[in-house]
Amino acid sequence: MRITDVRVAEAPIGSGFSNAVIDFSSMTVSVVAVETDRVVDGERVVGYGFNSNGRYAQTGILTGRLLPRLRACLPERLVDAGTGLLDPAAANAVMRTNEKPGGHGDRAVAVGILDMALWDAAAKAAGQPLHRLLRSRYGLPTPEDDSVWVYAAGGYYYPDGTVGSLREEIRRYLELGYRDVKIKIGGASLAEDVERVEAVLDLLPDGCRLAVDANGRFDLPTALAYAEALSAYDLNWYEEPLDPLDYLGHAVLAEAYPGSLATGENLFAVPEVRNLARHAGLRADRDVLQMDPSLSYGVPEYAAMLSCLDGAGWPPTRCVPHGGHLYNLAVAAAFGLGGCESYPRVFEPFGGFADDAPVAGGRVRPSDRPGVGIEGKADLHRLVRELFD
Ligand code: MG
Repeated sequence: MRITDVRVAEAPIGSGFSNAVIDFSSMTVSVVAVETDRVVDGERVVGYGFNSNGRYAQTGILTGRLLPRLRACLPERLVDAGTGLLDPAAANAVMRTNEKPGGHGDRAVAVGILDMALWDAAAKAAGQPLHRLLRSRYGLPTPEDDSVWVYAAGGYYYPDGTVGSLREEIRRYLELGYRDVKIKIGGASLAEDVERVEAVLDLLPDGCRLAVDANGRFDLPTALAYAEALSAYDLNWYEEPLDPLDYLGHAVLAEAYPGSLATGENLFAVPEVRNLARHAGLRADRDVLQMDPSLSYGVPEYAAMLSCLDGAGWPPTRCVPHGGHLYNLAVAAAFGLGGCESYPRVFEPFGGFADDAPVAGGRVRPSDRPGVGIEGKADLHRLVRELFD
C-alpha cells in the first residue's frame, strides 16, 4: 500500500460565539486527503483528516515541512511489514524528523491532522473501523460495551445571549439524549457566571451533572475566588481555570478546591503531560485530563501520554479528550477512556458523530464503518467530496 498523493485544503468553522478568551468568528480547520494505490470493493482508498476546533488551519506546516518529508521517504518505510498496509506510527516518526524538542503548538496540530487521515486510510484498507484497528495495533482488550460516555459542551457567550437562551440551549441537549452538560465561565463577572450555573443546575434532572470551563482565562487569585464560589455546587468539574502550563498554580488551586478539576486540552506532547502529572498537584481519583489526539501529534503520541500517565498512577478512565469528533471517539473507545467531549450543533460539520449513532442515555457508539467513519456523517462526507473531488 502506497501513498500516491496528499491534498490539503482549509475550511471555515466560524461561529458568532466566544469563550472567556477567544471569539470563533475567524476559526478555520485544515482538511487533508491521503490518496493511496489500494482499491477496496472497486474504490480507491482515500483517508481524510482534520483538526479539532480552536487551533486554526495548518496549511504552512503541512505543505512546507510535513508533506515534503513524507514524499522524500522511501514508500516501504511507511508500510507495516506484517500487513502490507500503511503504518501511521512510522509515518508519524518521519513527519517529526528535523524538529527540535519543545514548542509543540501548531506543529503538533499539523501532525495530528495527517495522523487522522493515515489511520483512516489504514483502517479502510484493513476493512475495520478505527477503534478496532487501534485495539489490534496497540494490543488493547475488547470491552463488552463499545459505547462511550459523552457530554454536551456548549453554553458559550453569544452577543445576544441571556440566561433564558442558555436554559433553552441546555434543554435541547437533554432532548438530544445527553445527560451531562458543560458551560463556559470567565467571560462574564463572577456574579453573572454564578447566575448561569444556578440557572442550568435548576433545570438538570436528577443524576445529570454540569461542568464549567474557563478556557485558561484566570490568574490564580481569580481562579481561587471562582473555586470558592463553585464549591457550593456539585459540579462535574471546573475546567482550565488557569493557563495550561501554570503547573504550580494548579497545585495551589487543587489544595483549595475539593471538587474535580479538568485540564489538558492545550498540552500537546508527552513532556508537557509528564510535567502536569509531576508538578500540578492533580488528583488521580477525581481530576480529568483532556488532551486531544487530533491536536497533539495523533494516536502514537496519545498512546505514549497514556503510558506516561499510567506510570504516574492515572488510569485511562480519567482521560476525556477535547474535540468532539469521530476520530477522538474512536480513540476513546479503543483505549477505554472515561469519555469524549461533544459539541451538539456547533463546529459542524466537523463536530459530531455518525448520523446513525444517536446519543442515548448520555452515551454514543463508535462507527462500524471502515476507517474513522466520515462516510457515515453526510454533511462532513459532502464537504470532503466538495473540497477534493
Ligand atoms: Mg475546554
